[in-house]
Amino acid sequence: MSYTNTSDGSPGTQKWGRVLIAGGTDWPKLGRKEKGGRVEDSEHPDLLEPHILRSLSNVKAVSVHTSCAGCHTIVLDIEGTAWLFGRNQPAALGVPGVEAISENAPRQLRATDLGAPPGTIFVNAACGRSHSVLVGSNGRVWTAGLNTLGQCGHTPCSEVSTFKLVNGPLNPVTGEQEHVRAAAAGITFTLFLTGHGKIYACGSGEKGQLGNGRTGEHIATGNRTGFDIESEPIPVKGLDEKKIVHIACGQQHSIALDDEGLVYVWGYNGYCRLGLGNQKDVLTPQVVPQFAGPHTQYLGAKVSAGPSNSVVIDRQGMYYVAGKWKNTGDGSAGQPYSTFRLLQEIMGCKIRHACSGGVTHFALAPDEEEGGVMTVAWGQNAANGELGLGPEEPKSATKPQRNQPLVGINVFDIVAGQNTAFFLVTPNEKYSDLQRHPAELDTPEECLICHQDNGDPLACDKCDKPYHHTCLSPPLAAIPDGEWFCPECVRNPGAPIGIDALNLAGHYAPPAVSSSRKKVGARARDQDEVEDEDGDEDEDGDGDDDGDFDDDDDDDDVGRKRKAPVKRGAVSKRKK
Ligand SMILES: [Zn+2]
Ligand SMILES: [Zn+2]
Repeated sequence: MSYTNTSDGSPGTQKWGRVLIAGGTDWPKLGRKEKGGRVEDSEHPDLLEPHILRSLSNVKAVSVHTSCAGCHTIVLDIEGTAWLFGRNQPAALGVPGVEAISENAPRQLRATDLGAPPGTIFVNAACGRSHSVLVGSNGRVWTAGLNTLGQCGHTPCSEVSTFKLVNGPLNPVTGEQEHVRAAAAGITFTLFLTGHGKIYACGSGEKGQLGNGRTGEHIATGNRTGFDIESEPIPVKGLDEKKIVHIACGQQHSIALDDEGLVYVWGYNGYCRLGLGNQKDVLTPQVVPQFAGPHTQYLGAKVSAGPSNSVVIDRQGMYYVAGKWKNTGDGSAGQPYSTFRLLQEIMGCKIRHACSGGVTHFALAPDEEEGGVMTVAWGQNAANGELGLGPEEPKSATKPQRNQPLVGINVFDIVAGQNTAFFLVTPNEKYSDLQRHPAELDTPEECLICHQDNGDPLACDKCDKPYHHTCLSPPLAAIPDGEWFCPECVRNPGAPIGIDALNLAGHYAPPAVSSSRKKVGARARDQDEVEDEDGDEDEDGDGDDDGDFDDDDDDDDVGRKRKAPVKRGAVSKRKK
């Protein structure tokens, strides 16, 4: 839901990493109560620690985009190609009539596939609860998904079923097309950040989300109360002389940072999530006095937003949060943080990145003990393992703590969804030892070239298929250090993996859940959940251990020689 202004967007020059995933993968069901309790589906497990996402393990990812109130994800790679997966209701990923797209068979999409001029690539993206935004290097924007309130920037309709070019934003003075460089999205609205640092908004104005100074409250037909809907992007007001560099959206509120370090908030203010000391909705961006100087060390350096909270990192690397960020005690619905406050536990850390998901919070700081980066994670009632603390650890953590499985891993970005978290990491030796998802693949025993089951074949880091390094063309002189991908995987980066590879129909996965298991009315209810703020609606306490990662398969570790025995050791160590 957020955007950081860190690169020039040209392909090949950006910092790239590999994608790790932790938490829930049962996209249609995540965050929804099920009759008789949740039943773990072995094909769509909860990943209790960060796993290498095999399908994209040979893609050079530059950014990941998801929603603290949603269950779908867009990964952008160094070529400007988008990879989409997750819940697709209604058509949030731009594919009509499909309930979900598997993370093991992400949909590949290029800007030119949408009719963009040759050479156009995707440079940014955003996800709301049920819609998506793609930003092209040509400054144009495409959207898909739920559009009942114009949040896709198109005339209101139940859904925009395939990605469609947005008309605008148009400069209100000149009438010219503005060049969009980034987007952010809440449930019922979308923000667009232009190359000049101006913000435009579309969608519902009910809570002041559009930042245009009005909600447009009126009596509508049937004596219902109606509010403004702007289905073409309009300017957010009150920032005329300002250059905005970073925007982020919660469910129904927004936070922005300008190039001088001032922080602005607007929109729905329940639980004091705007950090202004009250709960009154804010209809135009308001400066947060705490970060307005004059002492430069207290100016904002980064901003982010969770469903019902806002986060600011100041120039000293101090982490502040406002609103409701947990379920009991100080910081909960009963006692929200009415202004931005520090968290005791991480006051000693120099925070460089932060993000919040459904009930989760993450931060990155230099690791004083081990060197490198420390990943800090917390979140009360996290139920799907999305904190990634490990299979032996509680899933929920009320206080910030170091994520142990990520010690030694060079994490440079974290993006948190409603029930899932993604980590962008620079590959190193430690990275290669991480668990992979899916855990096990059905692979042959013998070298795919000579078909001899002898020697010490090399296993592909993505598909596990074995090859003698001497059989390759050209042959390798030695077993390579670090990642190695087989010729087939090199030819098709991002190709589906596991059972999803067998179901290959274009790049779309079949519906992940059969219609008999599909819950009637789930979609309609979901759309009405705007008032249900927290994304934690179906927390069922911490006692739910039945969903644990089940790694007791008895099979095929033997006979397949990996070049990374450490990883195999780690797997068997966890077997009970
Ligand atoms: Zn061979
Ligand atoms: Zn391979």
